[in-house]
Amino acid sequence: MIKAVLFDLDGTLLPMETDVFTNEYFKLLTGDFKDHYPPEDFKKYIWQATTAMIKDNRKEATNEQVFMETFIPLINHTQEEMMAMFDSFYSNKFPKLHRFTSPTPLARKTVSLLAEKGYKLVLATNPIFPMAATKARMRWAGIDDLPWEIITTYEHSHFCKPNINYYTEILDQLQIEPHEALMVGNDTIEDLVTSKLGMKTYLVTDCLIDRGDSPFKPDASGTLEDFYHLAKNNFKGIH
Ligand SMILES: [Mg+2]
Repeated sequence: MIKAVLFDLDGTLLPMETDVFTNEYFKLLTGDFKDHYPPEDFKKYIWQATTAMIKDNRKEATNEQVFMETFIPLINHTQEEMMAMFDSFYSNKFPKLHRFTSPTPLARKTVSLLAEKGYKLVLATNPIFPMAATKARMRWAGIDDLPWEIITTYEHSHFCKPNINYYTEILDQLQIEPHEALMVGNDTIEDLVTSKLGMKTYLVTDCLIDRGDSPFKPDASGTLEDFYHLAKNNFKGIH
């Protein structure tokens, strides 16, 4: 029986073209820092630190710690200065990226329905962002005030997708078995890798990301609207 539903955010509950969004994000971020660093260099440093964070497999280091230990030596600011600048970017500039997403009322309708039915809810978005950036995207999606049990962000998570340890950390926190969890996402690797653990999977196809190299098959797939109907039927056919 399914007890918890884990939702990806970008391209799942918040429809978007991830490539377009990522491009615009980097334009905005590097633009905000252009008085201090040439945009191409700054982008390179962010990527380098993000890659380190995605690869790191130490269970005692948060993603934020890994990011900073790679990033800070590459730049001329202290960690304190940098964190203040990032905070200001995420409060003042990041909200402009709203227009590169296509929110749908279906997100709130679906998550609220599952909350009413008593499922534990996890916002399982790749924790490469600070809470401020994730809260903003949740607001755009219309789901920020729903009863989430866990929201994964870089301050708290110790691993990133598609590392299976990222998902194990969530299951441990929920104290449930893999087969009691359903992962809902739009990426055939990052989200469907959960099937390796024995979790149930639903692939949302509205903004599908499939690089053609995924060995994983979802238990079910369809649009977010199809998923809503499946949720109404208590996931009949999936468990
Ligand atoms: Mg996604």
